[in-house]
Order: sequence, then C-alpha cells, then structure tokens
Amino acid sequence: MTSKPSRTCEQLIRDAVARIGGASPRLDAELLLSHVTGLSRTRFRAWPEQPVPADQVEAFERLVAGRVAGQPVAYLLGHQEFWSLPLKVSPATLIPRPDTECLVEVALTLPLAEQARVLDLGTGTGAIALALASERPGWRVGACDRIAEAVALARCNAEALGLPLQVWQSRWFDGLPPARFDLIVSNPPYIKEGDRHLGEGDVRFEPPSALVSGPDGLNDLREIVQRAPDWLVPGGWLLVEHGYDQGAPVRALFQARGFARVESRQDYGARERLTLG
Ligand code: GLN
Repeated sequence: MTSKPSRTCEQLIRDAVARIGGASPRLDAELLLSHVTGLSRTRFRAWPEQPVPADQVEAFERLVAGRVAGQPVAYLLGHQEFWSLPLKVSPATLIPRPDTECLVEVALTLPLAEQARVLDLGTGTGAIALALASERPGWRVGACDRIAEAVALARCNAEALGLPLQVWQSRWFDGLPPARFDLIVSNPPYIKEGDRHLGEGDVRFEPPSALVSGPDGLNDLREIVQRAPDWLVPGGWLLVEHGYDQGAPVRALFQARGFARVESRQDYGARERLTLG
C-alpha cells in the first residue's frame, strides 16, 4: 500500500491562491502556511519543493477555507503587525491598519515634554498606545476602551511586549480617573451608517462599534472634540484619525471648540486622514 504523496509548499500555495482571490492571494496564502508550518515566507521561495506533513496540510486547508469565506487573515492568525510590533488581535477589536501608523508618526513630531502624559481613546488592541510607548520610554501612556475584551487584549499585548501601559475600561472619558494629558490621540469609529464600504472585505468581520458612528460618521468625533479640552493641560494636543472626506468638518469641530493651530495631515495615500489642534 502506498501512502498519499505529501504535498509541497509551492503546490499548497498555488492551490490556495486560485481559491482565495482578492487583492493579495499569494501573500495571504504564504502567511497562513507560514503560521501552520513555522517556516518563513522566504523559505517557501528558497525551497518550494519542501514537503508539508499531512496534519499541517489539514490545518492550512482549514485556514484557507476561512479566508475563502472572507475572514480577515489577521483574525485567522490571531495577530497583526503594527509599527513593527507583533500584536494579538481578536474579532472584538478593529484590525490595526497601516494608515494609522501615520497618526503615530505625527504624534512623534509634536513638541512634547520627555515625561508627557498621553491618552489613547478607544485603544482596541492597544496598537497606537503601544507604538507611542515603544518610541518614547519617558512618556506615561494610558489607554481606554469601552469593551472589556479589548481592555484585556491591550493589557496582554503590553505585557507581551514588555511596555508599560495603563488601560482603563471606559467609554471615551466616562470612566477615567481625573487626569490631564499633554496629548490625546484616537482612531474612533467614523464610517457613516449604511456606507457601502461596510459590505466589503475585512470590515464585514470587524465589530461595527469600532467602525460606524451615526448618519454622518461624526457622532464619536463630535463628542471627543467637545470633551477633550477638559482632559488636556493648557497647550495640550488632540490628534484624531478620520475618513479621507472628513477633513473639513473635523477641522470645523476643532475650531468651534476653541482649538488653536488646527491642521489636517495626509495618510500614505495622500488623503486627508488626520486632524490635530
Ligand atoms: N479606516 C478604516 C476603514 O476604512 C475604518 C477605521 C475606523 O472607523 N476607525 O476600514
């Protein structure tokens, strides 16, 4: 009796690519195979004929089936890189986006003291807060999230990375201990209810509470901009991410609340995606 011939890395990747489709099927297939085999993606290129043991083939096929059904690669792997930090993710939180690294970059350019107090509102995985803590060891970084599972995840990521992060469970400012911050950052939900984008790709599997904010997408930004000055030191900064078409209305919110030096900044796709004041 002959046993089933084992499949090679390249065969598995090719078969998966044909089924996965979408924008980056090869990358997706390589990430999933790397996850089950423990081999690096470069290894697949260097040794495409490497056989894969049957139990790993089975595990890989389960992941591919999930991807074919539209599940985000980050949720299938349980982690996602942000600012070169490996972060655990779960379907309770938004998957950190490369565009949000722009927010981190802008925050790092602000003229802040070495021991600045910083707050990340709606931290999810802790991505923004942990990126800032990793770059500025002197900053005292805190973060909050309304969802208990996100709070636990952010704490777990901080611990795994060995970065100090205080995390509170709080809906925006509602449950925070009294404090004043030099910088408040946030990537709140900002998509309009019923937006076509919500029916496409990874966002279908992400929590709507992290994405959608009222008929114009600005409900949460309105609240944050309105309340932030009560939590900032004089001269403190508020820096938020928003939709690429929300620059003008968000600047207007900042100005109406009395912020000075209000400016929008572009993301890596040259679209207005951040506003600060
Ligand atoms: N930028 C994300 C998207 O368009 C949305 C993130 C958010 O609402 N904060 O998928």
